[in-house]
Amino acid sequence: MGRALIIGAGGVAGVCIHKCCQNPDVFEEICIASRTKSKCDAFKEKLSGGKTKISTAQVNADHVDELIALINEFKPDVVINLALPYQDLTIMDACLATKTNYVDTANYEPLDTAKFEYKWQWAYRERFEQAGITALLGSGFDPGVTGVFSAYAMKHQFDEINYIDILDCNAGDHGYPFATNFNPEINIREVSAKGSYIEDGKWIETEPMEIKRVYNFPEIGEKDMYLLHHEELESLALNIKGIKRIRFFMTFGQSYLTHLKCLENVGMTSIEPIDFEGKKIVPLQFLKAVLPDPASLGPRTVGKTNIGCIFIGKKDGKEKTYYLYNVCDHQECYREVGSQAISFTTGVPAMIGAAMLLTGKWNKPGVHNIEEFDPDPFMEALNQFGLPWKESFHPDLVE
Ligand code: NDP
Repeated sequence: MGRALIIGAGGVAGVCIHKCCQNPDVFEEICIASRTKSKCDAFKEKLSGGKTKISTAQVNADHVDELIALINEFKPDVVINLALPYQDLTIMDACLATKTNYVDTANYEPLDTAKFEYKWQWAYRERFEQAGITALLGSGFDPGVTGVFSAYAMKHQFDEINYIDILDCNAGDHGYPFATNFNPEINIREVSAKGSYIEDGKWIETEPMEIKRVYNFPEIGEKDMYLLHHEELESLALNIKGIKRIRFFMTFGQSYLTHLKCLENVGMTSIEPIDFEGKKIVPLQFLKAVLPDPASLGPRTVGKTNIGCIFIGKKDGKEKTYYLYNVCDHQECYREVGSQAISFTTGVPAMIGAAMLLTGKWNKPGVHNIEEFDPDPFMEALNQFGLPWKESFHPDLVE
């Protein structure tokens, strides 16, 4: 049916590539392009031989001209951006110049400020619309499936949704005292930032990890979770009817938090460049270099993740609660695609989002967040491609 250019060859890209190859009627041809071409070639070697034709290329996605040349050569129907959030705008520029659809899993962040906002990408709305192409923003799990869950709850269960709590629990154990499950730089920037949530249309800011709750997660049990800022709060508060409050919580173990605090206290998580032996280095980037590569955690991570949304709202004048979630097992993911569940839960929805555009099931030129599309075909594909969802009408609520 179509051709996809996948940019990036890290943990998430690896899963997405596997899943494209499991869906060859939609992904007839893929090109894997990244900064380090040998990583792309390794995926090609592993997965060639199936129906999906695979090629590889070297590209520095910070350079729009390189991207344009690659897109003109491969002529994809969609570009799946699985590099880092810093590359979102250059890749969107290249898609605009070549009139190619765009999908990503994380919103743009400038390198020098850890600020997660959609304003930079939403500024492309008119230009994408005029070019007749679609940018699908945030097609991972959170953001991503959490937006699809919200659209599905709105469509099938509620007249209005007043409260959403997004709960992200990773109960996986990799055996290291400290490691991050996806790109360490992006992960630490996210969790060391101030927390925030939206109430009555206003952002309320908290100190990092200031708000803690304990939640009894289905199939996992009780875990400590902390309120974080998260990018989908901004778009869901606009796109879901009736929102009064929306929050995001993520679980962290005590060892992770103690190490993080110590690293923060000694300045290792800073993104301000410092002089080191005559060279400028960014402490956080140096820290990334000494931490375990998230891709190497796959074989040693055991346990499950549970990510989902609790909705409280109204249906036919009555208050109603509804919980949609997915449980994913780290070792099952590893057996299937050779990676742990965090990359898995992001790479599968990235493939599905691209498939929605390639098949024309989602067709809306402009720049859109995922909850703006019909959730039904995506929900069906989640069940089909390894992220089955469960629902509960009487969940425990978060205070
Ligand atoms: P990795 O660090 O494992 O992989 C990133 C890849 O991008 C690497 O292959 C890297 O190349 C490549 N890359 C980086 N800079 C460039 C560049 N300038 N040009 C070309 N390629 C480049 O990250 P992950 O796979 O863990 O994460 C990928 C994305 O997924 C991130 O944006 C992350 O924020 C997002 N994410 C989203 C989640 C969600 O639920 N929505 C959850 C988890 C992650 P090289 O090998 O040379 O370094």
